[in-house]
Amino acid sequence: MDRDRLSRLLTSERAAHLERNPTSLAQFLAAEHLFTGVPMTWMANWAGSFPLGLTGARGNRVTDVDGHTYVDFALGDTGAMAGHSPPSVVEAVGRRIDTLGGITTMLPSSDAEWVAAELSRRFGVSQWSFALSATDANRWALRLARLATGRPKILVFSYCYHGSVDETFVVAEADGTTRSRPGNVAPAVDPATTTVAVEFNDLEAVARALKTGEIAAVLTEPALTNIGIVTPDPGFHDALRALCDQTGTLLIIDETHTFSAGPGGCTAAWGLAPDIVTLGKSIAGGIPIGAFGMRADVAGRILGQIAEQHADIEDVGGIGGTLAGNALSMAAARATLSHVLTDQAFTRMEVLASKLVGEATATIERHGMPWTVTRLGARAEYRFCSPAPRNGSESNAADDPDLDEYLHLYLSNRDVLITPFHNMVLMCPTTTVDDVSTHGRLFEEAVASLAG
Ligand code: PMP
Repeated sequence: MDRDRLSRLLTSERAAHLERNPTSLAQFLAAEHLFTGVPMTWMANWAGSFPLGLTGARGNRVTDVDGHTYVDFALGDTGAMAGHSPPSVVEAVGRRIDTLGGITTMLPSSDAEWVAAELSRRFGVSQWSFALSATDANRWALRLARLATGRPKILVFSYCYHGSVDETFVVAEADGTTRSRPGNVAPAVDPATTTVAVEFNDLEAVARALKTGEIAAVLTEPALTNIGIVTPDPGFHDALRALCDQTGTLLIIDETHTFSAGPGGCTAAWGLAPDIVTLGKSIAGGIPIGAFGMRADVAGRILGQIAEQHADIEDVGGIGGTLAGNALSMAAARATLSHVLTDQAFTRMEVLASKLVGEATATIERHGMPWTVTRLGARAEYRFCSPAPRNGSESNAADDPDLDEYLHLYLSNRDVLITPFHNMVLMCPTTTVDDVSTHGRLFEEAVASLAG
């Protein structure tokens, strides 16, 4: 690829972004009381140096303050995989807020057991608890895994992301040692003291780490999705499960993103057998929620340890949040799982994602780009390497921030959004064939311009 050409194209897309978004820019510059100009620091991470100001969003369309309406394949980085404001969720939320009342009371509503039963049916683990984010679901699951096993450390894969969970910000060095991930913000303790990082798909390294008997739990996504998509080798998950069984290590599968693989995530689609499942983001149609579910015997072990060690899981013991499990989240999750992210919706979303992957792959081949596109159900991601990366470090090495920014701006300047972090495109139940074709056409144009 001609880097000078990329640089020229990027300059012109940046200028176009500036020109077509004066109101967004003004809103950003006027935000004197927002730390870094946005309500949450990562919102400054969109391509083009300032984010679009939101007016509204419905289905898979987002409208900004300059009057543009976008086809949204970012979908709030999966938080809106159900689409924006799906009518049945709006209705259920309205009923809870208005008709019944009781947004947050610290009392259980009947929706909670319904949601837990539905998640049990989908993910195969039967004892559920709720948080307000997937981050918290992971943090609490890790604490309970340590409690159950009495072991001090956890194992994660290099370049994983499980939310802002302190223990997970580690990478594996080439010599196999674990170190704090570059950029980690002032960790309370060196995460290498709490965590072992190994490369995804490296079963020998997993076996070596688990053999020490120090590891309470392996925490992993079924496929990494936060450093591009990195899929497991054939047999990886069976072997991982066997290694956990041999060493008495708990296996925590984070389905927050991989829920895109089907109604029961990869756990159901690939026949995985986790001890604990964590998820969040989309399961309440965009209303904050996190959840973790455990096998009944694991829950039993945890309860046994709680009694034996007088562990406090109900107050100040490190597990809990005042708003967690609130009736609004539960009502929204019930509506989302009953009416929106249904089996039929996933079937449709997968067909659309396959079409998108087919079109993007054809473009890449036509122009001889050394890139790959990987799909996980309703989600796809292009990565700037070929063959597709086998682990986090390989995928990290394929990072190309200028190329990311060019593609993101090329699309957003023509009314299509993809995830600001890397190149993820996600379908929701209201995505249409035409929307996918629009993406395909623009991707072809963007790559053709680059190829010259
Ligand atoms: N797990 C995974 C796999 C994620 O990708 C993320 C967020 N991208 C999280 C957990 C954390 O989600 P949240 O930021 O909503 O807590």
